Amino acid sequence: MKVYLDNNATTMVDEQVKSAMDPFFTEMYGNPNSLHAYAGETHPHIKTAMEKIYAGIQANRKDSVVITSCATESNNWVLKSIYFEYILTGRKNHIIISEVEHPSIMATARFIESMGCKVTYLPINSEGLIEAQSVRDSITSKTALVSVMWANNETGAIFPVQEIGEICAEHKVLFHTDAVQAVGKIPISVQEFNVDYLTFSAHKFHGPKGVGALYMKQGKELMPLLHGGSQMGGHRSGTLNVPGIVGMGKAMENAVDALDFEMPDIREMRDNFEDELLKIEDTFVVTPRNKRTSNTILISFRGIEGESMLWDLNREGIAASTGSACASEDLEANSVMEAIGADEDLAHTAIRFSLSRYTTQEEIDHTLAVVKKAVARLREISSSYSYAPEGHNSELTIGH
Ligand code: PLP
Repeated sequence: MKVYLDNNATTMVDEQVKSAMDPFFTEMYGNPNSLHAYAGETHPHIKTAMEKIYAGIQANRKDSVVITSCATESNNWVLKSIYFEYILTGRKNHIIISEVEHPSIMATARFIESMGCKVTYLPINSEGLIEAQSVRDSITSKTALVSVMWANNETGAIFPVQEIGEICAEHKVLFHTDAVQAVGKIPISVQEFNVDYLTFSAHKFHGPKGVGALYMKQGKELMPLLHGGSQMGGHRSGTLNVPGIVGMGKAMENAVDALDFEMPDIREMRDNFEDELLKIEDTFVVTPRNKRTSNTILISFRGIEGESMLWDLNREGIAASTGSACASEDLEANSVMEAIGADEDLAHTAIRFSLSRYTTQEEIDHTLAVVKKAVARLREISSSYSYAPEGHNSELTIGH
């Protein structure tokens, strides 16, 4: 049996999305910027897709949503443009991000830091959450931007984006949120929350890979990262990815429709799965369930190297993740586990299971059986694990 529980890495393309995209490969393949009928016939489809994308995040008609090649591009765009417009010109000298941002924010922040920008890295607490107060405490008169993700890709932890937005508005600081792991999982409204920039990516909500987006509030448009054409209202050059835009539109429509009726089912399946996993001795889950997205579990099995567990799962057809980049000689710890101050032993043992609307109970049952077998086998041969009969899950303590 093949089981895919790595939906925070990417998702299967929805059949309806695939069908919607199909005609734009071999029938309506004109370049939308050309001056003939092949171009013209794509225009209504692009318009409809963009309307669905705007509606999905409740953007205003006068705001800009620019389609990019991926969320990594959108995130790079925000930080680099802020660098060029505010830091390089000397108007400001500081940005704030969290210490658990995706590498596309983290590495870009480190890059602009190397170019002279001050960067504050906000810590997460023992529940894996950012405290909005830490944003308030870090803002100075020289802060150009706060960039904090909406939901964390490892734990699913939902950060206090609304409060952070209000603090930024109060201090007249620009606010960007990487909502890649939130879109399609929780309702998103850029109207209700004071968000200036918002990043998302179609392949995380059953759309195609290679299609990202950046929302920019009216009046807060950024200097383009890619020059050379007038596409996307001059915000981003490059021939439009018509099938990708159509696919993102359909995926967004379906994801928003599914929020009310599919997400509660996924949550229930996830919670039952988690209850069973936690019955295994010496396990630890980061972030309370009501404070994370409904599809994600980051769980540590003390004494078991995450990569060993993945190997055992993979042999039985199950795809999950450790959330850490694995260098050849060095097994890296999970970055979120490290950030919450988990001891070495625990930080290396985290496994992420992320479900989707296509996950079945049969798949979960199979996974549970395989996990139990793997835990028994790997702890048996582990040199670091010694079973403490009095030990149980709630005794595991985490903290800085
Ligand atoms: N931001 C977050 C939170 C993510 O989880 C990911 C993908 O894993 C990205 C950004 C990058 O997305 P993309 O693959 O579209 O570049």
